[in-house]
Amino acid sequence: MRRIGVLTSGGDAPGMNAAIRAVVRTALSQGAGVVGIERGFHGLIHGEFVELNSRSVADIIHRGGTILKSARSEAFKTPEGRQKAVENLKQAGISAMVVIGGDGSFRGAMALTAMGVPAVGVPATIDNDIACTDVSIGFDTAINTVIDGINKIRDTATSHERIYVVEVMGRESGFIALWAGLAGGAESILIPEIPYDLDAVYQRIVQGQQLGKNHSIIVVAEGVDGPPSGEAESVAMRVGRYIRERGGFEVRVIILGHLQRGGNPTAYDRILASRLGHKAALLALQGIGGKMVGIVHDRIEAFDLQEAIEGHKAIDEEFYTLAQTLSSL
Ligand code: ADP
Repeated sequence: MRRIGVLTSGGDAPGMNAAIRAVVRTALSQGAGVVGIERGFHGLIHGEFVELNSRSVADIIHRGGTILKSARSEAFKTPEGRQKAVENLKQAGISAMVVIGGDGSFRGAMALTAMGVPAVGVPATIDNDIACTDVSIGFDTAINTVIDGINKIRDTATSHERIYVVEVMGRESGFIALWAGLAGGAESILIPEIPYDLDAVYQRIVQGQQLGKNHSIIVVAEGVDGPPSGEAESVAMRVGRYIRERGGFEVRVIILGHLQRGGNPTAYDRILASRLGHKAALLALQGIGGKMVGIVHDRIEAFDLQEAIEGHKAIDEEFYTLAQTLSSL
C-alpha cells in the first residue's frame, strides 16, 4: 500500500487543520495510507510519526491551529539532520510528503525532493506573501479577525473622539494591513512596500476633523520603519507618539499581535484548504514532488516550488489608492 506523510511547519495559520483533513481523506479515498508527522521537520528527524485514519481528522475542519503542531528546526538545515529525516521516512515506508507552511517550509520540501522524497507544498500563512497563489490559507481568517477588532475599536473611538493606531502582523508585507484597512475603512494605512509621510498622515486626521469626522483609525503593519525613537518600541507606538506630540488629539495604540493567528477558519479558508490539500495529496500519491499547489483565478494549479520560493508577491497598489480615496472625504 502506498503511504504518504503530511506535516505542518513554520508559523501556524487558521485552516491548516482543514488542509490536513483534505490530505488524509483524499489519500484514504485512493486506497493509500497517511502518516502525520508532528512538529514539522523537527518531528521528521525525531521520528514523531502518527498513523492517521479518517477518524483522526474528524471534527477539525472548523478549528484553528494545527493538530500536528508546528515547530522550527535548525537541525533540518544541516545535511546530517536531513539524512536522518529521510532514513526515518524510508523506514516508515513513506514515499512522498505534503508540507503545509510558508516559504521557509517550502525550502525544506525542496530539500526532501532533492534527496529522493517527492514533496508538495501547500501555502499556509496569514501574511499572504507567497508567490504563485492569489491567496494563502489563513489570510482570510486573519483579516476578518483584524476587521472584528477595528469594528470594536471604532465604537469606542467614536464615543471618545480619539485617534487609534492599530498595529497588525506583516514583517515584510502589507497584505493584512492593506486588506483589513480597506475593509475596515481606516483613514490611513502604513505598509512596508509603500513609503509614507507622517506629516501627511497627521494632516489627514486634521482634515478629517474639519470634515466632521470625530475619530480616525490608522492601520500600521509591524514591519514598517517607524519614526525614530529613543526607545525600543513598536512602530505603532512611535506613530502614536508622533501624532500625540503634534498635538490636538487624544491617541491610543493597540497591537493586535498573536490573536491574528488564531480563531476558527472562515468558510473561505476551509474551502481553500480543502481544495489545495486535495490537489497536493493527489500529486504526492503520483510521486510528483518539487511542486506547490496554488489558487489562481479560482483554479487550483501546480507550480514549481522553486518559482514559488523565488517569486515575489507584490501588493496591489490600486487597493492602496482606493482605500485612501474612499476614506478621505
Ligand atoms: P515558514 O514556513 O512559515 O516560512 P520558517 O521560515 O521558520 O517558516 O521555516 C520553517 C522550517 O523550514 C525551518 O524551521 C526549517 O526546519 C525549514 N527550513 C527553512 N529553510 C530551510 C532550508 N533552506 N533548508 C532546509 N530546511 C529549511
